[in-house]
Amino acid sequence: MISVKMNPIKFIAVFSIILIAASGCQPSDSDKDILMIKTVNGPVEAGEIGFTLSHEHLMSNFGLPIEETDDYDEEALYSQVMPYANQIKELGVETLFDYTTAYFGRRVDILQKIADSTSIRIVTNTGIYGAADNRYIPEYAYGETPEELAARWIDEFENGIDGTEIRPGFMKLAIDSGEPSEIDQKLFEAGVITHLEIGLTIAVHTGDNIEAVQAQLEILDKYGVSPEAWIWTHANWHEDTDFLLSVAEKGGWISLDGVREDNLDEYISRLKLFRDAGLLHKVLLSHDGDAWPMGDEIRPFQAIMTHLVPAMRENGFSEEEIIQIFTKNPGGAYGIRVRKSK
Ligand SMILES: [Zn+2]
Repeated sequence: MISVKMNPIKFIAVFSIILIAASGCQPSDSDKDILMIKTVNGPVEAGEIGFTLSHEHLMSNFGLPIEETDDYDEEALYSQVMPYANQIKELGVETLFDYTTAYFGRRVDILQKIADSTSIRIVTNTGIYGAADNRYIPEYAYGETPEELAARWIDEFENGIDGTEIRPGFMKLAIDSGEPSEIDQKLFEAGVITHLEIGLTIAVHTGDNIEAVQAQLEILDKYGVSPEAWIWTHANWHEDTDFLLSVAEKGGWISLDGVREDNLDEYISRLKLFRDAGLLHKVLLSHDGDAWPMGDEIRPFQAIMTHLVPAMRENGFSEEEIIQIFTKNPGGAYGIRVRKSK
């Protein structure tokens, strides 16, 4: 199904090493200055993550009732997901950020098995998904303060998830459409408090909800946290690129995460606008694919490697710009550190 005879991405990995060596930006300061990413198999230097998909799902049970979402037919899952993950690896992917949250299918033990078997670095998340009409918000979240919710997420970071040693590498939250609800704002505040404590990046399913963008920027400001700590997830749903650029200008990460083989033109033209504005360094690209969507057929996540990167080259994007988007930007966005605004 997928042609792997040409691998345009492995070239990038080699080129990336040459560039890093040539620019002398190998980490040379003290250890505390080295930016780290936390994978399901432990920490990795942000400069070492290689070609990265910044928003995918290796599996999810999005759609099932909340109490059933961590239950998988593991044998069937592995037989579908492992070969696909191996194909993704063969296409040059070295690191993948998995966006399936607790309460709609996060299973860090399964993610670790996939990481071990495929040698893709996988990063999982903490947080609560507040979109989908609140169906994946657990009952306790309504009764707790932002500080109490933050304490749960900090505990996963410090002590491991679901009784394992596996730590989250970012936060994943989600806001419904319309005016941000009280619970969505509370979950975001909990995210900001968590960020101030442990430095995890806050990725928020926001989509086309401009009111939610404004509300999040206001809460970040209230806590003195820079928009650099925040990823506007599904920003591609919003058509006004000028507005995306204005948020990128403030420091927010713009996640254009719906790449498919049939929408390359849209992505190329948006990337050109980001390049013209000098803001390519704020863009994250991904597919939001899913290798096991409730056990259904794979929603693919290879078009970036097979189609978009070649199209970027045809449209004059340099190797350095491609490395910027697929390696340096994820490293910068997810590298763990507290980002205060002042
Ligand atoms: Zn997603």
